[in-house]
Amino acid sequence: MDDLDIEYDLEWEQLPEPAAAARARFETCVERLPECPHTPGCRAEYEALVPDYRMTLDHHQMGVCREGMRRTRMSYEADEPDFPDWPFAGMADWYAAPQGVRDAHNAADRAAQAHRVSGMVGIPEFKMTESGPWLVGPEEITEALARYATAPAAVRRELEAGPVWPLWLDWLQETARHGGFRVD
Ligand SMILES: [Zn+2]
Repeated sequence: MDDLDIEYDLEWEQLPEPAAAARARFETCVERLPECPHTPGCRAEYEALVPDYRMTLDHHQMGVCREGMRRTRMSYEADEPDFPDWPFAGMADWYAAPQGVRDAHNAADRAAQAHRVSGMVGIPEFKMTESGPWLVGPEEITEALARYATAPAAVRRELEAGPVWPLWLDWLQETARHGGFRVD
């Protein structure tokens, strides 16, 4: 796939109902069953309820956000964390594993997605790349917004004159109150 075709789906970490229940049903179904046997389908139900809590950015738009974050010191550069190995022989092995084993793997995976570097302020820049999925937490967002508040007024004016940056700021302010957001 051409780099320019990359899209980033961002989604509230804490969804309101009924979207939260639909996402939980979808994630459980995907994890346990090779094919969704439910009617209506779990994916369709979730996708129908989630659009209000999502933002999709294309390659260029994400680039604008990354650049703005860097200029205002809302983000920092760091090495990506290691993700846990997938200790299963294949999907059949995964489905057959005890729930506790799957839960432990998912928890380790999630910890890597949420990785931040202690002592650093804001959002690590790798969470705004296509190498995710990533999870940006509310503390990281709050720190980033605090940095933005102290950025030079001329830089803020320049960024806010563009079409993407104001939407990004709104997104950050909103998701800081909803558990942060996922980047996929
Ligand atoms: Zn299902």
